Amino acid sequence: MTDFEIISPATIKELFIVIKKCGKDNFRFGAGYTDLLNELRKKTEPELKIINLAQVKDSQFTGIKTGIRGLWIGAMTTIQQLVSNQIINREFPVLHQSASSLASTQVRNVATIGGNICTASPSGDVSCALVSLNASCEILRVDGRTRMISIQDFFLGPRKTLLNRDEVLYRIFIPQNKPTSVSVHSGFIKVGTRQSMECSVVSLAFHIQSDKKSKIIKAGLAIGAASPTIRFTESACNFLIDKTLKNISESIKDEFAENVVVYASPISDLRASAWYRKEVLYNISKSVLEVNPS
Ligand SMILES: Cc1cc2nc3c(=O)[nH]c(=O)nc-3n(C[C@H](O)[C@H](O)[C@H](O)COP(=O)(O)OP(=O)(O)OC[C@H]3O[C@@H](n4cnc5c(N)ncnc54)[C@H](O)[C@@H]3O)c2cc1C
Repeated sequence: MTDFEIISPATIKELFIVIKKCGKDNFRFGAGYTDLLNELRKKTEPELKIINLAQVKDSQFTGIKTGIRGLWIGAMTTIQQLVSNQIINREFPVLHQSASSLASTQVRNVATIGGNICTASPSGDVSCALVSLNASCEILRVDGRTRMISIQDFFLGPRKTLLNRDEVLYRIFIPQNKPTSVSVHSGFIKVGTRQSMECSVVSLAFHIQSDKKSKIIKAGLAIGAASPTIRFTESACNFLIDKTLKNISESIKDEFAENVVVYASPISDLRASAWYRKEVLYNISKSVLEVNPS
């Protein structure tokens, strides 16, 4: 286990000072520590400093706020805060369900949305939902400037993101549903070997918007634990446009599922074989379109 020194800045200004001071030192950021401590238990890192983000007081860094074009979520917002938020529950059920399915209440009370994204696990539940919602990440630079990047581009590989070592994930932006959208078919399917406290064997996040004629006008679908990074299944999403959700034939469902599986390049590991992961993904993709016609 690594020994480390913890530094706790109290404001964003102090955070910048600490980051600059740490310079080329070996340092990491810590938020809820549910991933980080696990990682540090397994290896030894010399002279590690941890910059603790949990004490930074900043109204944008924590909490959920409605903007003109969508929802802003501070990176330090806990998973439990996502679960309890009524706007998320009503407008973005996929995010509510993914947050509810993450670990236990104890873990959800400390784990943050920013930590889930920055860990860049291919099976990150909340991250998978955010990819389906076309979310963007606002990154804070040490000079105080920010840059926005689509969450799909944020993930470079397993445990790899495009964050520079002195950059912090500050906020997440979710675009609001289309003005012409009158109904949303949105949810999160997680298949694991156990029911609770389990990272997924494969997961699927979907957010499908339909207009008043029940035609699909926008579809977002992302797959988790099926490739080195969470993938947005663009061709499957485009395939759904203009279709009527309550009136989809078996052959169209098959074609749709084939379009989803194209994005999967799973590995075989202790939890499941690559073949099993693809089979499950095909079946759960079809199940997304099993909508009661009434
Ligand atoms: C028992 C258990 C069960 C779990 N079950 C699940 C599950 O079902 N589904 C799932 O998706 N995850 C699960 N996890 C993983 C974990 O809880 C989540 O990934 C969590 O959201 C991580 O958030 P954190 O705040 O604890 O991150 P931390 O552990 O504090 O940080 C994780 C990584 O992100 C970096 N980081 C954190 N915040 C920032 C920031 N703002 N800017 C830059 N870098 C940052 C850290 O440096 C570190 O590398 C589980 C973990 C445990 C211990």
